[in-house]
Amino acid sequence: MPSIKILPDNLINKIAAGEVVERPASVVKELIENSVDAKATEIFVDVEQSGKRLIRVTDNGCGMSREDARTAFERHATSKISAESDLENIRTMGFRGEALSSIASVAQVTMVTARQDGSTGTMIAIEGGTLKNRTDAAAAPGTMIEINHLFYNTPARSKFLKSAATELSHIVDAVSHQAMARPDIRFRLTHNKKPVLDLPHSSGIRDRAFQIHGNELSQNLIEFSGGRDSVRVYGLIARPTYTRGDRTSQEFYINGRFIKNASLSHALYAAYADLIMRDRHPAGFIFIDLDPSLVDVNVHPAKAEVRFRNQSQIHDLVRDVIREALGSHGRPVRQADIGAPESGQGYADRVKEVIVDFASRMPEMTESGQRSGSFCFAGTPATGYITAHAEIDQPIASVLYPLAQVHDSFIIAQSNDGMALIDQHAAHERVLFEKLQDQQATGNIPVQNLLMPVQVELGHAEQELLKEYLPELQNLGFLVEDFGRGTFIVKAVPSLLTGGDHKQLLIDIVDELKVHGKSGKMDALRNEVLSVMACHPAIKIHRRLSKQEMEGLIEDLFACRMPHSCPHGRPTVVRFSMDEIRRMFKRI
Ligand code: ADP
Ligand code: MG
Repeated sequence: MPSIKILPDNLINKIAAGEVVERPASVVKELIENSVDAKATEIFVDVEQSGKRLIRVTDNGCGMSREDARTAFERHATSKISAESDLENIRTMGFRGEALSSIASVAQVTMVTARQDGSTGTMIAIEGGTLKNRTDAAAAPGTMIEINHLFYNTPARSKFLKSAATELSHIVDAVSHQAMARPDIRFRLTHNKKPVLDLPHSSGIRDRAFQIHGNELSQNLIEFSGGRDSVRVYGLIARPTYTRGDRTSQEFYINGRFIKNASLSHALYAAYADLIMRDRHPAGFIFIDLDPSLVDVNVHPAKAEVRFRNQSQIHDLVRDVIREALGSHGRPVRQADIGAPESGQGYADRVKEVIVDFASRMPEMTESGQRSGSFCFAGTPATGYITAHAEIDQPIASVLYPLAQVHDSFIIAQSNDGMALIDQHAAHERVLFEKLQDQQATGNIPVQNLLMPVQVELGHAEQELLKEYLPELQNLGFLVEDFGRGTFIVKAVPSLLTGGDHKQLLIDIVDELKVHGKSGKMDALRNEVLSVMACHPAIKIHRRLSKQEMEGLIEDLFACRMPHSCPHGRPTVVRFSMDEIRRMFKRI
């Protein structure tokens, strides 16, 4: 084996660049972060050829002295931390002192910078990590940094880049994420000299979301905030009636830093658990502000992940605050109240136009989302240990008077300002589900012993699965005994379920265990089983209801915490305002 050598700085920087600078968008992200840390109020990003040819970031921040302009490109050179204890209290975007040295090792860099005090500026040129030139330069206060021919000296890395459209879409994301975190800063992005994003200073995250994502998404967002102790959780979440086909519209920000975190994603899904269909995805921009000592941001070279000191507490808090906001006395609101979806073209659409030049399209941008149902939530402030509140859309009375039933399946009801259709099965499912949930929460599910126990035979794998969960099912009021040789006997069921087909119910529960049993998430599993249970005795489609039954059902439904969807996420009520009805008849 050859002898051990210390690697030259240039090579060390190139190796570091492999971690920090994965693609042009990583450069954009690092440079914008530097501008934010320099307290810029305007940040302009210009790229050519999806950043491979040129990335230029111009800011009006604090600028650098002639000395600092050179030092900034040294490895581990930073003005943001100086002692180990500072790592516990990071309030800047950067702190590792790696970005500029890494970037300069794999590109040709020119920087012009001048401080706010009016002193002469500095121009500096670096190529492949080597200083080529440094002179005085007349310049406006702030910093302009130009990255030319990224990866020119690392062809292998260059080959890993994806299509021009994909690289550009990552750049758009990088700018959008920073812009979402800092609505007070003006951002502009151009590509091949054409405008892609132009985001003026805005009044807050709602405004910023509209600037970036347009009307379609933002009109479906509920602003929320809550917290516990010194942790604040706030942001925008989509109404459960607006869902997406993938996870792309879920963004998490910790102390203003866009990050990925599996536990937070899980918390988001848990909040929406029985409100949306299983194959649909919620959208939301979730911000968590907490003491920097409670979160470690130094676990990923590009600072794209974090580790919480107390992961499960944060998870539960995020879930509960969002859940509360989604449910807080939610009342249906007409689509008309929230503006026409066609108006106001968002930047996502504009970006799409720009991208048309490119060979392939950006999947993130073409996903248009699904709008189902024509109602959404509004809320009033909620109380409790966790304080959460959802922004109030214009509420309309939830009082509904049943008039008739259509095909023994849907109830037609009159409301104060129009009419509504109620899916009787979905509505009843919701009512039973919450009753079962309440009974289970108090540890007291009334059970009914069956006079004629029901016998069910199961296959081998299913037997094992069911055996494992028998005690849990008993907690849920479902007493099943293992009779041996694959035979199980249902002896008692929750009183609410006495009327149903218990054999089929057990088989459906076993199916549910197959899907959710292995997750180890008992809470989620319990809810899934309860929703299967609620589905069984729920009033079936094709059952005639008396006026009293309809009234009772509507009353029970609106006494629910989450009245607007069944436990599987389907809507329970669809409303039509008088205006909408008049419009259908061309009267207005
Ligand atoms: P870090 O951001 O982790 O400190 P960088 O390599 O990104 O490391 O930057 C090194 C240093 O250069 C920063 O700490 C900062 O002092 C200075 N710097 C970089 N970009 C700018 C800028 N746009 N405006 C003012 N100073 C900057
Ligand atoms: Mg930095």
